[in-house]
Amino acid sequence: MRAAESSQVTHFKDLGVSAPILKALDAEGYSTPTPIQIQAIPIVAKGRDLIGLAQTGTGKTAAFALPILDRLMANRKHAGEKSCRTLVLAPTRELASQIAESFRSYGRFLGLSTTVVFGGASMFKQKQALYRGVDILVATPGRLLDHIAQRSLRLDAVEILVLDEADHMLDMGFIHDLKRIATLVPKKRQTLFFSATMPAPIAELAGQFLDNPERVAVAPVSSTAERVEQAVIHVDHSRKQDLLHALLQDKAISRALVFTRTKHGADRVVGKLEAAGFSAEAIHGNRSQGQRERALEAFKKGKARLLVATEIAARGIDVDNVSHVINFDLPNVPEQYVHRIGRTARAGAGGHAISFCAPDERAFLKDIEKLTKQAVPVNVHALSLPTPRPDERVPRALKTGGGGRPQGRSVHPARKPAAKKHHASDAHGKAHAKQGHAPSRVREEQGRDRGDRRDRKGNDVWSNSGAPQYRKQRKPTRV
Ligand code: AMP
Repeated sequence: MRAAESSQVTHFKDLGVSAPILKALDAEGYSTPTPIQIQAIPIVAKGRDLIGLAQTGTGKTAAFALPILDRLMANRKHAGEKSCRTLVLAPTRELASQIAESFRSYGRFLGLSTTVVFGGASMFKQKQALYRGVDILVATPGRLLDHIAQRSLRLDAVEILVLDEADHMLDMGFIHDLKRIATLVPKKRQTLFFSATMPAPIAELAGQFLDNPERVAVAPVSSTAERVEQAVIHVDHSRKQDLLHALLQDKAISRALVFTRTKHGADRVVGKLEAAGFSAEAIHGNRSQGQRERALEAFKKGKARLLVATEIAARGIDVDNVSHVINFDLPNVPEQYVHRIGRTARAGAGGHAISFCAPDERAFLKDIEKLTKQAVPVNVHALSLPTPRPDERVPRALKTGGGGRPQGRSVHPARKPAAKKHHASDAHGKAHAKQGHAPSRVREEQGRDRGDRRDRKGNDVWSNSGAPQYRKQRKPTRV
């Protein structure tokens, strides 16, 4: 690892970033490079392959975007029709849009072209944008393969390939798509691979894509949590909404991201918030792309004080000055907790995270505390349940890895396995459907709320009977 170099670099100029990009960074208000930028920029600038263990919020987008822009400028040429010179793959539409936005703003004085393609948006408009060829293409894997199947895109001119949030792409079931994309890009290329965690399947995937990579790592998943002031309130499910309304009387909660485990849960919370006079928007996989963009915009501009989101829909959402993250429901995967609370601690800033913990979520809290190696302080509120003793046993059936049906009332009685709503309508989709896979585009749509039904390895946590089965999580190994 290259941490030793960090202390000597205080400016982007020291990293060899060119003048027009420095000017753009100045306009963005970036004065000092972040640790991942200090480590990664020189490696990428040399043309080396890179494996980066870093999560969103560390400044990793600029860590790859800045040297890529400089490399494209150093050897300026036309990409060719229906081609791209740089391909960036990202798991969600939101993240893809943000990456494209970053390339555009960092490269605003360079005159390079950037296009983004993802499911749920007009294929026709995307084809038009790709027709002349682009310097930088940011894509979700499913829609990318749709374009290849429809011959609106070729990948044989790709010089630089970036896989961002590889662990999330794996979670969302994109592994086959990624392997297929690997066969379509030229062997001679530069590849950059980013992931917040490095479980064995991700390390294996990295091995297939990368050629003798250099490795960098920053802020392991558990350390982000240290910058956030955390609290947990023990409360019954039935009183969570009242508790939320009571907390929102505090004006210090100026802009809050509220996480629920299900899409319906998000809608329910927003409906009740609005009825109580709070401005709130929902963002989840059942909402159209337009609705999601409007919701995010309202939140960014401060028209909505609250954005209620499901886990995957919120991934990569980059909104400044989120004062609080509120976990209306605790996630059953502890890494998700860290990702969630990281939304309030962007680029090194601090923030607050308040979690509501019902009795049947105590096992999740224990898993979180084990991962972050710190106890979450308990706050007591008039609506709280008595604080459980530290040695109090959690219901066995609900423990991660305990398997079996929960005793008593189910964790989320409203959840039933979702009926399949989508149809394979295009050639690519049909081909996949024949093989027994959901088509990629459909997976992209459904994947938004995969957190509702899947564990981090992509296992369905629902049995046929509709009862939740919390399977044992394998601990991700870190490089
Ligand atoms: P990322 O990890 O790429 O999602 O970046 C997280 C946030 O940090 C984004 O809002 C970036 O605009 C911001 N950011 C990235 N690099 C810097 C920097 N060197 N100085 C200040 N902010 C930055």
